[in-house]
Amino acid sequence: MDKQEILKKYFGYDQFRSGQEVLIDSILAGRDVLGIMPTGAGKSLCYQVPALMMDGITLVISPLISLMKDQVGALNQAGIHAAFLNSSLTVSQYYKALSYARAGRYPIIYVAPERLLSEEFLDFADHVKISMVAVDEAHCVSQWGQDFRPSYLKITEFVSRLRERPVVSAFTATATREVRDDIIRILKLREPKVLTTGFDRPNLYFGVASPRDRYGAVRDYLDAHPGASGIVYCLTRKQVEEVCGKLQRDGFPAVRYHAGLSDGERKKNQDDFIYDRAQIMVATNAFGMGIDKSNVRFVIHYNMPKNMESYYQEAGRAGRDGEPAECILLYGGQDVITNQLFIENNQDNIELDPETRQLVMERDRERLRKMTFYCFTRDCLREYILRYFGEYGSCSCGNCSNCLTNFETVDMTEAAKAITGCVAASGQRYGVNVILDTVHGSAGAKIRQYRMGENPWYGSLKEMPVYRLRQVMNELQLRGFLTVTNDGYAVVKLGEQAIALQAGEVKVEMKLAREEPRGEKKKEVRKKKKAGALTEAEEELFERLRALRMEIAKEEKVPPYIVFSDKTLMNMCAARPRTREEMLAVSGVGEFKFRKYGERFLRAVMET
Ligand code: ADP
Ligand code: ZN
Repeated sequence: MDKQEILKKYFGYDQFRSGQEVLIDSILAGRDVLGIMPTGAGKSLCYQVPALMMDGITLVISPLISLMKDQVGALNQAGIHAAFLNSSLTVSQYYKALSYARAGRYPIIYVAPERLLSEEFLDFADHVKISMVAVDEAHCVSQWGQDFRPSYLKITEFVSRLRERPVVSAFTATATREVRDDIIRILKLREPKVLTTGFDRPNLYFGVASPRDRYGAVRDYLDAHPGASGIVYCLTRKQVEEVCGKLQRDGFPAVRYHAGLSDGERKKNQDDFIYDRAQIMVATNAFGMGIDKSNVRFVIHYNMPKNMESYYQEAGRAGRDGEPAECILLYGGQDVITNQLFIENNQDNIELDPETRQLVMERDRERLRKMTFYCFTRDCLREYILRYFGEYGSCSCGNCSNCLTNFETVDMTEAAKAITGCVAASGQRYGVNVILDTVHGSAGAKIRQYRMGENPWYGSLKEMPVYRLRQVMNELQLRGFLTVTNDGYAVVKLGEQAIALQAGEVKVEMKLAREEPRGEKKKEVRKKKKAGALTEAEEELFERLRALRMEIAKEEKVPPYIVFSDKTLMNMCAARPRTREEMLAVSGVGEFKFRKYGERFLRAVMET
């Protein structure tokens, strides 16, 4: 069979995605490869397809038991014999799997890196032909990344002990140069074909909002998207408890996940989410590594995360199946301060020498600043993300909250002068709220106590709503007119640019959302988009197919998205196949899956 036939027969797809073919061809030509592709781009196929065409065994090294289980489950559903060898097996299961493997039953075997140098495994490797070693999540070899795994360093020694050197292929979603160079060097890849696909994920919508009632915003979103599966990320365990508790009381199928829960509860909640028994996962960033669930339709950040790397990784768990999905960041004023505290108290850096520790902290603060800018920028959010990762987009993607909002440029120079003037006249001693209350002309207790009524700028901006004043305050920080100290108590000080502003040498122009038509327009645009996706009749069929998928998933004991992805179900809704041939023509329906449960899906389509 050639690669095209394998793609169709086992995976049910008609075409390779960009990048996949190049990597597959290189592997088949006997060349090492390094594939750098974002989450959801389809890395697994790049080694699975050639694995089925080469005459020996492909070993896949993967860091997490859950990932291996998922992948092997998916391969078995597609009719491909695969197995995993890791610590989740009992001793007798392990030896049984190993003996089947010796007998040549599995073209693909997933193995934990810790196992590689064990005696039994080396002996096994000596007695079979290993045609490829594929390293998944290859950035785990690098100490630069956040996911360094010392056991990954064993891979190189394992490869060097084999009688015949196999092709070594490596895959990761981490793009930085240091990590890439580390992978090539440490895994000793030989003149690898390196392929980097773009980091853009066009099916993801990006939004930023700063609602007064954050919980209410989440609830409204969930109300508007019934049945959709998604993650709500919070910054602290306490917040996870709070948000999850409220959602459950409001009748939403939500579960929680953070490092403070027992192993048992974490596992149960994670499984409930993966198997679609609970649609909503409320979690800290402890949740997600190794989650392959393809039908995550939204990722809401209840707080601003610590940096763009974390944000893109977490948000990127949405829409792995390529269907539209939404990534929404709800920003609150307190988030910067909470993150700053995390940086100051970061226990991971405790054993570093003071100088390095200082450097790491500086770097983390800088990253936090870039993250904050993301929340305030009025430019295309996708463009901001791509630029951060060293790529360039189109400046206006048409699928982010900024591109869909109507902005106008407003001259805020006078307000800026008043705020900086107020900071200067009060001796650079007070925090954001005192300054804003002063220019707004508040008569609160603090203002009286600090005698801010005597400040020459007192009440000078009383006409301007407080939320607007906050926006100006943020802009002034972003552009260096003001800085806010963070040694315990946040005090506003004049920044480098303040003098030029006071001297009237610079103007402060801000892009602000147009007040009136904005909400209307936005809703309209978004509604149109949705309507284009599924008609009402298709929606009904989709629900029916989704229920059938759940039924089959239970019988097969695999997560529903492994039976068919959301995208495949959508394709069925659009195509409404009535015969075997028509069903097999639907993208995502392979022969093996058709034989197993194709008829049942055909019947559901015809009856709806
Ligand atoms: P990654 O490991 O890069 O995050 P996966 O290998 O999990 O991505 O693939 C993501 C999704 O894309 C899976 O549902 C997979 O079946 C699907 N996919 C992969 N290649 C193709 C293709 N050529 N055509 C259609 N869908 C594909
Ligand atoms: Zn955009």
